[in-house]
Amino acid sequence: MKFEGKTALVTGGSRGIGAAVVKRLAREGAHVYVNYRRGKRDADNLAAELAEEGLTVSLLPFDVANQQAVEDAMAQILSERGNIDLLVNNAGITRDAFVAMMPQDAWDQVLQTDLTAPFLTCRAAAKTMMRQQSGAIVNISSTTAVSGRPGQSNYAAAKGGVIALTRTLALELAKYGIRANCVIPGFVETDMLKTLSPKHKKEYLGYIPNGRFGQPEEIANAVTFLLSDEASYIQGQTLTVDGGMIH
Ligand code: NDP
Repeated sequence: MKFEGKTALVTGGSRGIGAAVVKRLAREGAHVYVNYRRGKRDADNLAAELAEEGLTVSLLPFDVANQQAVEDAMAQILSERGNIDLLVNNAGITRDAFVAMMPQDAWDQVLQTDLTAPFLTCRAAAKTMMRQQSGAIVNISSTTAVSGRPGQSNYAAAKGGVIALTRTLALELAKYGIRANCVIPGFVETDMLKTLSPKHKKEYLGYIPNGRFGQPEEIANAVTFLLSDEASYIQGQTLTVDGGMIH
């Protein structure tokens, strides 16, 4: 039980990659707060699946892009548990358009949810982790941050910012016994991938040396490794899990 007695918050934990992380953490002994925004049914199903295994999670719906909501959520966790040990910034959205046609609100929404939100949760958790002199943070970026992708300037900018944010967090927090690292997933079979057309899916598969898309559990393996004491000397790094797509 790698995470026995630990308290974790996973943003966007109700489905996809986040849900796979929640399951791993809960099965390894952590008490997990499962954040989501609107998808109550997904969150209820996840909680029910874990309850069948005798595991309990706390559902914590709030909009990660809302500063007050993040502060309130962290206050709730601290009043119920007294601590926060593990933070996974996983919630993310896309709103694709070519730069020449991108509405301002598509840019703003993606930056707010995919970049400002990790800043808000890290800021809220860091104060407590610094007092505790311990903690581990994993932020989820994307291969788009490294390679770019037509139609995803907003997403690429946000996810690139996540890598830079993580590196700086690591430099600031290491002396308090806190680690911050980043995972860069490639194409993973979740609802997010369902937005791709069959033509694009076929094209993208051609770029993946492993010859298939990833599974959420394969990302969760990397996230939970980086959160665990097995990664105690890994600080400020990005771990790419993409079947060999980017070099
Ligand atoms: P999904 O679309 O399957 O799930 C997204 C999750 O984020 C849901 O739980 C959703 O909750 C939550 N969420 C979205 N916006 C908010 C918000 N404002 N506040 C709170 N929760 C929110 O995503 P994936 O599992 O595919 O992706 C997870 C992460 O991995 C994202 O950061 C994504 O950018 C990244 N990633 C994914 C890749 C992929 O191929 N799937 C590739 C590279 C990176 P709700 O259902 O309530 O909206």
